[in-house]
Amino acid sequence: MIEIRRLKKTFGKLEVLKEVNAVIEKGEIISIIGPSGTGKSTLLRCLNLLERPTSGEIIVDGVNLLDAHADIPAVRMKVGMVFQQFNLFSHLSVLENVTVSPRKLLKLSRKDAEARAMELLKKVGLESKAHAFPAELSGGQQQRAAIARTLAMDPDVILFDEPTSALDPSMADEVLYVISELAKTGITMIIVTHQMDFARNISSRIFYMDEGVIYEDGTPEQIFEHPKRQKTLAFIRRMDMEYFRLNRNDFDLTAVQARVRALASRYHLSFEACRLFRDAVQKLLCDVLFPLSEIVEMRIGVSKETHTPNCCVSWIGKPVNPLDNDPELRREIAVGVKNVVFRINDSGHPQLEYDGVLSAEKIQE
Ligand code: ADP
Ligand code: MG
Repeated sequence: MIEIRRLKKTFGKLEVLKEVNAVIEKGEIISIIGPSGTGKSTLLRCLNLLERPTSGEIIVDGVNLLDAHADIPAVRMKVGMVFQQFNLFSHLSVLENVTVSPRKLLKLSRKDAEARAMELLKKVGLESKAHAFPAELSGGQQQRAAIARTLAMDPDVILFDEPTSALDPSMADEVLYVISELAKTGITMIIVTHQMDFARNISSRIFYMDEGVIYEDGTPEQIFEHPKRQKTLAFIRRMDMEYFRLNRNDFDLTAVQARVRALASRYHLSFEACRLFRDAVQKLLCDVLFPLSEIVEMRIGVSKETHTPNCCVSWIGKPVNPLDNDPELRREIAVGVKNVVFRINDSGHPQLEYDGVLSAEKIQE
């Protein structure tokens, strides 16, 4: 249904898409993952011609979109897009947002457009909000309204560009639920997402993007369990960890602890192990890192093999292992976290690594 051949997109000298090739069958659910800045959004934007590709071919249902004679508006109607920032018209009600394009472009009567819109709003759980304005809705509701608006054009393909990354976790869930339900209807979807669990559960295939190409693709099982290439593996490992960027002047300890707890329960750590993990993270932040640096970046994870909590922290400052001179504190932290890697972004020596191996056995040696 969609074929992408040697697609290239440059911005001035910046070569964002070097050569993207892919064939996507009708009804497939493709998740695109990868580090930021690797051209995921650019690829989606090329697919519905919000960006003009530099060269290559995009064939949708036998029509080459880049052909000078292609009926672009017609093709664009077949390719719907849902954005990170919802992009609803703020001066229109939800119902008007959903009916405006079908009335204008599909020439539906108001009555028909509204009947169809109400059906779609029911599907996304927003029937009762039809006459509300976007500002009166939560972020999750706005995104669900945006999904209904896209569906109203009856597209063959829907592109989602990080549909939940502007939302709090609970609202993200309601949007992910709506997208999962949609996936069952057989519509083709291409979703850029950082939510690995979601990508894994919903997708027929995963594209890992890096270096301006689809660097690796495969079933969720292939990509998440047995990635073939080093960069894919490194990315998957990193995404399995919780990432924090914290400022000592306004960080929310409760929110951090809640995420530690969620991570621990995802890996089925015991109640006690979870408590120790949480305490260790708190000590690490408050007693070790914040005295050294105003901004701290931290990733925490749980090893799949050994089920032990791990942590990698980085900050800008002197290249030292801050636990070297404090065996007592080291021991206290070791109770909850087995490995801590310290990365120091010293200006001359970016990312000097100190392995603060903290296993209790090691300390006893
Ligand atoms: P991703 O979605 O994977 O994070 P993007 O597709 O947004 O990546 O961006 C890829 C690269 O292209 C980035 O370096 C970004 O700065 C650049 N870029 C994206 N859009 C434009 C644009 N309109 N003009 C110039 N550079 C752009
Ligand atoms: Mg993007």
